[in-house]
Amino acid sequence: MSRSHAKLNNGVLIPSIGLGVFKTAPHETVLSVSQAIEMGYRHIDTAAIYGNEQEVGLAVKHSSIARKDIFVTTKVWRDDIATGNTVKAVEMSLSRLGFDYIDQMLLHWPEPSGRLAAWRQLEVLYSEGLVKSIGVSNFMVRHLRELINHANILPAINQLEIHPFLQQRDVVEFCNQINIAICAYSPLAKSKGLGHHLVKHIADRNSLTPSQVLLSWNLTKGRVVIPKSTNPTRQQDNLDALNVELNEEDIHLLDSLEDGLTTGWDPRQVA
Ligand code: NAP
Repeated sequence: MSRSHAKLNNGVLIPSIGLGVFKTAPHETVLSVSQAIEMGYRHIDTAAIYGNEQEVGLAVKHSSIARKDIFVTTKVWRDDIATGNTVKAVEMSLSRLGFDYIDQMLLHWPEPSGRLAAWRQLEVLYSEGLVKSIGVSNFMVRHLRELINHANILPAINQLEIHPFLQQRDVVEFCNQINIAICAYSPLAKSKGLGHHLVKHIADRNSLTPSQVLLSWNLTKGRVVIPKSTNPTRQQDNLDALNVELNEEDIHLLDSLEDGLTTGWDPRQVA
């Protein structure tokens, strides 16, 4: 398997770099996603709660690339998980995107009431072919253990905040053992990781940018990454991380940066 894709446990290939669109305003999204697709991105990560699925769908529809060659992930929001409305939520996402299938649908959060029932609904949608792969996001080991005890279908992926400052080693190891792929969100620590002196040092001595160093650290470990940028120069910079090879010494140095930094919400306390 080349570095450009990861293979999910149901055989589906997912491009290893995707464009994240959290906080990309709807009026910017069509242009931002269109330019990214022209540049070579083949994977876009959105969510119902981001409010820009419609614009992502338009950019995909009007691109010169066939729909089947662009991988789109979206997510069921917490309220829909909690109220038993996952089927309806997926139908709404399909409608906003203007697609007849979604490449990957995730439960956005391990909502204590409703996550198991929501997974059952995703399983039905998967068996009907409306979603081509199903997974979870922000699930810790105990949430995964519980899910696996109830599920007929193993999640294909777990999307988590992961960068050298927050490595989530217990969840990653658990997922590796049972063949759940890992997608690293906020892989630049929402840009907070770019100024760290060690990251800058490794970038300088390899003629890379700090962003490429952080993305390559995750890619080297076989994970999918979904950096967000609306800026075309930065989007290209991030996409080029696919061709970066860090040596073992640099990877070990980055491994030493764990300090528990979360840049968004933190699912570690969710029952
Ligand atoms: P991120 O990708 O770690 O960082 C994005 C920030 O870095 C933006 O401010 C961006 O600014 C800047 N940036 C990007 N590339 C850069 C570069 N090459 N050089 C300098 N600055 C750069 O953070 P994120 O948006 O939180 O995470 C990425 C994606 O993960 C989201 O968009 C979303 O799709 C997903 N996500 C999922 C969850 C979940 O719960 N499942 C939670 C959070 C995020 P500009 O746009 O100005 O370039």
